[in-house]
Amino acid sequence: MVDGYCLACDRATSFRSHRRASEAGTPWIGWREGLRCDACGMNSRKRAMCWFIAQTMRTLRPAEVYVTEQMTTLYRWLAERFDGTLVGSEYVGAGTPAGEVREGVRHEDVESLSFPAERFDLVVSLDVLAHVNRPVRAVEELRRVLRPGGQLLFTVPFVPEYACNVTRAHAVGDEIVHFEKPVHYGDPVASDGSLVFTDFGWEFFEQLSDTFGSVEIELFHSWQYGHLGSNLFFFRCRP
Ligand SMILES: [Zn+2]
Repeated sequence: MVDGYCLACDRATSFRSHRRASEAGTPWIGWREGLRCDACGMNSRKRAMCWFIAQTMRTLRPAEVYVTEQMTTLYRWLAERFDGTLVGSEYVGAGTPAGEVREGVRHEDVESLSFPAERFDLVVSLDVLAHVNRPVRAVEELRRVLRPGGQLLFTVPFVPEYACNVTRAHAVGDEIVHFEKPVHYGDPVASDGSLVFTDFGWEFFEQLSDTFGSVEIELFHSWQYGHLGSNLFFFRCRP
């Protein structure tokens, strides 16, 4: 337990650490996915993204924002604070037409979005690119729907020690080929979690630079605001 101040819900609070076991069975503390705020329930990565979004909005002043999630605390946080047009979506399932709304939830596949080009001023995505078959294709799609002068803010599991991306799995038709031990992360619309396809290294920075005019990586760390560890990386891309 760490006492501090939550920048997402704007109050003094406590953050709970998150003990996990590695693949080798060694216990370690997942600072990025842990340090959940007692008040808003968001972990370190999501709370930091809230701050990142808030800072960006001050200067960007977006009219239309797209976030690649909808059934989450972060989406609700954004909906409560942003009075422009906010569009959220989830990956509801294969075979669902892009843009279709089922029980209030919009389906989108980030490799093939239903939005027209240059629709949004700001696009936000948290770790979604790790779960798609073709992350570069998804990056091109997110770039396509950004207006000139817009920004894409996102997180991925980025490992600065990796020169190249590590493809953990690849889908060929309906078949999934695994190159590494399958790893799943939580998914608000899939009870068994979402398969990780890629761990990202510096190769991804070069791939982003092929698509965007400007790519920045920011590293967050703050004891006071409950952001510990050394892997809280945030990407900011401009067309
Ligand atoms: Zn909070």
